[in-house]
Amino acid sequence: MSYPNSEQLSKWRRQFHQMPEIGWSEFVTTATLITTLRDMGYQVLTGKEFLNPAAILGRDRQDVDKGVARAQAAGVDPNLLAEIAGLTGCLALLDTGVEGPTIALRFDIDCVAVNESRDSRHLPFSQGFASLNPGYMHACGHDGHMAIGLGVAQWLIANRASLRGRVKLIFQPAEEGVRGARPVVEGGSLDDVDYFLSAHLGMGCPSGEIVVNPQDFLCTTKLDFRFDGISAHAGVNPQGGANALVGACHCVSQLMGIPRHGEGMTRINVGTLQAGEGRNVIPSSALLQLEVRGDCQQINQYMTQRALSIGEGIAQGFGLRFEHEVMGEAVDLHNDMQLIELVSHIARDNVGLSLREDSFGGSEDATLLVKRVQERGGKAIYFVLGATISAGHHEANFDFDEASLLPGVQVFTGCISALIGC
Ligand SMILES: [Zn+2]
Ligand SMILES: [Zn+2]
Repeated sequence: MSYPNSEQLSKWRRQFHQMPEIGWSEFVTTATLITTLRDMGYQVLTGKEFLNPAAILGRDRQDVDKGVARAQAAGVDPNLLAEIAGLTGCLALLDTGVEGPTIALRFDIDCVAVNESRDSRHLPFSQGFASLNPGYMHACGHDGHMAIGLGVAQWLIANRASLRGRVKLIFQPAEEGVRGARPVVEGGSLDDVDYFLSAHLGMGCPSGEIVVNPQDFLCTTKLDFRFDGISAHAGVNPQGGANALVGACHCVSQLMGIPRHGEGMTRINVGTLQAGEGRNVIPSSALLQLEVRGDCQQINQYMTQRALSIGEGIAQGFGLRFEHEVMGEAVDLHNDMQLIELVSHIARDNVGLSLREDSFGGSEDATLLVKRVQERGGKAIYFVLGATISAGHHEANFDFDEASLLPGVQVFTGCISALIGC
């Protein structure tokens, strides 16, 4: 069975690396994926055929508009942009026409708001494929995920005659901030899936190794809190105002004081506070961007509920109006034993990777996809594919070892062969 070569995988990775796009603005990326996949012979679902717009989380209209403008400037076919209809990401479907299980693989496609290093020791810079989109960078490795996804796509086409069933390659937007998975779930494309596999590169696991069953995924909810008060003259009529800034400040300190939970880990962070209009005006509006996390759904729910009741209570105390919006969410992870055994076997015996045990310690919205597949009786796994990194994820000097791309393709295709090979 033929594999794409490492050079082609690096070429794809570098192409994506040069055009990083933040979640929900990945229009050039999506157009590149669709065109490449259709050229290979895939049926590709886009826009509302792929995502349920009603379930979208944390989509910033300005990011979307900028992304569309960037795609237009980059010469993306207007018909393709119209087809994407403002909704990034896509799903490539391979139907062998032979009865058999359905497999879904997920690759995330967005970047991070990091300004890429221009240090000569930073390989993407010294090799001339650094970000061309200032302020944004593929600093998490999702460029590598897409390259692996296209490598798997190429392998599937070359080997389709020896496969049965169907394979869905999901290229998911907006993983950062855990925003993109819910509309994929609600789009329904996972509902007939028997096996689901997804992975992240790096995450502390070096090249040549794999963490098949990472532990300690945190459930998380990302929230925006909005307080609306009444503006007034700060000298003449302060008693006529309702101070949203002061309310928001009290809210922050109360949020940080939510009691820990005796049954598991919790986290809370208020990342931003924007408030007020001018020095001599009673501030009439405030916005908090915060997140809570918990060991399991019950503990995350506890954190979310406590945070919401603080927001409501503060609003009442200060005579403000309170609104909240869920901007992102992820759950914990429970990989299925059948797939743990399969990925372990393929990675160790076929690809030659060493198995390693490790914790994840963060959150990942692939967990929502895993959960949906498992709820419908399918089996699912999320694993960490070793890739030596030059700096931490989300740092300006982040880069990963491109030699890890081919083993990534081989782990996925080895599993596909085992599951639906004739
Ligand atoms: Zn990331
Ligand atoms: Zn990531």
